[in-house]
Amino acid sequence: MTIRLNNAAKTFPDGTKALLPTELIVKTGEIVSLLGPSGCGKTTLLRIIAGLETSNAGSEIWFDDDNVTSLPVERRKVGMVFQSYALFPNMSVRANIGYGLKIQKLSKIEIDSRVNEVLEMCQLQDFSARAVSQLSGGQRQRVALARAIAPRPRLLLLDEPLSALDAAMREDLRDELAILLRDFEITAIFVTHDQDEAMAIADRVAVMSNGSIVQSGTPEELYRNPNSAFVAGFVGNAMHLDGKNSGNELILEGGTLKLPNKSKGHNVYVRAEDVQINDNGTLSGQVETVTFLGTHYRVGIKGIMPNLLTSILTDHSAPKVGQTVKVAIKSDALILLSLIHISEPTRRRGISDGGVGVEKK
Ligand code: ADP
Ligand code: MG
Repeated sequence: MTIRLNNAAKTFPDGTKALLPTELIVKTGEIVSLLGPSGCGKTTLLRIIAGLETSNAGSEIWFDDDNVTSLPVERRKVGMVFQSYALFPNMSVRANIGYGLKIQKLSKIEIDSRVNEVLEMCQLQDFSARAVSQLSGGQRQRVALARAIAPRPRLLLLDEPLSALDAAMREDLRDELAILLRDFEITAIFVTHDQDEAMAIADRVAVMSNGSIVQSGTPEELYRNPNSAFVAGFVGNAMHLDGKNSGNELILEGGTLKLPNKSKGHNVYVRAEDVQINDNGTLSGQVETVTFLGTHYRVGIKGIMPNLLTSILTDHSAPKVGQTVKVAIKSDALILLSLIHISEPTRRRGISDGGVGVEKK
């Protein structure tokens, strides 16, 4: 089912503009993630789509050719999974999953067969008789997912479903969920504030800030061509190379970088994996921090720009704290963002995807 939002907005009675007028299309079978910091309007947008929240006058929500804007939640045929599992703790896994089907007054045979089907899909067969209170967090969340899809919804909405789990469990279930959602062949919208989760699970990510979708694209597009300082920073932690841009050179405290053509009028950003510590570098700084993270080192270098410049090093050894190092950054690794589009995350921006200058050389 295709979801289409036209001019969807939400102002709460106290005047909070939780969602500014938003356009969004989710195609049949597509898995879209809404990614953004806490308070940017993700849950509000999801609840409007579900029918749990009424939207402002003028908003339109379409499921295929049906205008569902004023349809109540129970008639939208939407499956939902939340951070808190909202399961019946003393009921068995089987009874929890079958609960919605029982409400729908399906026959016992039909209920059993559907429950068996989703138990198998979610690899919960061995736990079917257990009470939910005897399951781990990850297992509970799989039960919540199984319960959401058992009624065969037209759309699955997930609101930070992994946030309550501990780190190791979260990563396992994240990868599992990416596979499961594709197996279900269902249109899904997945809300998260965690960029790794969004990238691992979604076909397309819509980045939100202050009540607006500020950019949407595949994980690769967002990472390589962020359209604003906000997206560059939020997706992949790009660092602002704060210096003087003469058009073909960027003059920093710690040396000069050659810029690509057409750099005039742009702010320059770089990602830590593109900051190379090597003797051919034109920049020079002093190592301030070294963190060993198993697969790589994170090295914080001072004296190149006002803030620390971070380098990710995949070598088997790292320089020592206090050491002076040369740093090289290839000019094709620089992210150029037009000055007009520097966004301050605290400012409300009424822009959507269209018309925002994207340029990366
Ligand atoms: P997110 O899910 O991205 O963390 P929400 O959609 O929950 O954000 O909230 C967006 C904004 O709307 C926040 O500023 C929040 O405080 C506000 N908000 C949410 N629900 C209500 C409500 N019922 N009344 C007033 N303001 C609300
Ligand atoms: Mg939320």
